[in-house]
Amino acid sequence: MHIPDIIIAVDGYSATGKSSVAKLVAKQFGFLYLDSGALYRGVTLYALENGLIDPEKGIDEAALQQALGHLDLTFRAGDGGGTYMGGRRIEEEIRTLEVSSWVSPVSAIPFVRKYVDERLHALARHGRVIMDGRDIGTTVFPDADIKVFKVASDEIRAKRRYNELVAKGEAPTMEAVLKNLKERDYIDSHRETSPLRRAEDAFVMDDTDMTLHEEVVWFEGLIRGKYGILE
Ligand code: C5P
Repeated sequence: MHIPDIIIAVDGYSATGKSSVAKLVAKQFGFLYLDSGALYRGVTLYALENGLIDPEKGIDEAALQQALGHLDLTFRAGDGGGTYMGGRRIEEEIRTLEVSSWVSPVSAIPFVRKYVDERLHALARHGRVIMDGRDIGTTVFPDADIKVFKVASDEIRAKRRYNELVAKGEAPTMEAVLKNLKERDYIDSHRETSPLRRAEDAFVMDDTDMTLHEEVVWFEGLIRGKYGILE
C-alpha cells in the first residue's frame, strides 16, 4: 500500500508503551522511528557522567548549556543500532532508574528542549517518520499528519517498566518504579516550556487492556482510514 510522506506523533504519559507500538508501526510501513525521550535521556546521562548534577545542588545549568554546543547525540539503525553519544552506544545506560530520576528536571530546562527539538527536526527532515514523546504533537510537529495520545493504568505502566528494569539486571521495587513514573508525569505536565498535554486533534488510545498486536492493528486502521487505503 502506498503511504504518503507523513509524520506521525505519538505522545503520552511515561511507560504507556509508546515506543513499543511506534517501533512496530515504523517497521510495518517502512517509516523511520525517532525516540525523542532517548535524546533527553542522553543529555541527562552526559550531565550525570560529567559531574554536572549534584544531588544537593541540582543541575549545573551553565556548564550543561556550554556542553550542548558540542554534544553529538544521534540514532543509528541496523545491528548494534540505537542511541549514540559521539561514537558510543548508550542505549542501555540511558534506561537506568538513575537516569529516569533526573531526566524530567533536565528536560524542563528551555535550552535543553531547544537542543532536542533541533536534533529531531534535523533527523526528521525527509519525512516518513513516527516519533514518540511528550510534546511532539503540540510543539515539535504541531502540523503532524496523525497524532495519537496514549494512556494506560498506573498498574500496567509500573509493571511494564519494572519488568524492563529487572530484565536489564536492576533490582528496583515496584513502589520506586511507580513513584518515578508519577513524579515524571507531574514534572512533565507542569513545566513551563511545552508541558505534556494532549493536542486537541490527537486520537486517544488507552492500551490498558490491549495486546501489542491489537495496538498495531489500531494504528493501521487509523492510517488506512485517513488516507482511504482499502488494502
Ligand atoms: O519517553 P521516555 O520515558 O524515555 O522519556 C524520558 C523523559 O524525557 C520524560 O519523562 C520527559 O521528562 C522527557 N521527555 C520530554 N519530551 C519529550 C520526550 C521525553 O520532556 N518529547
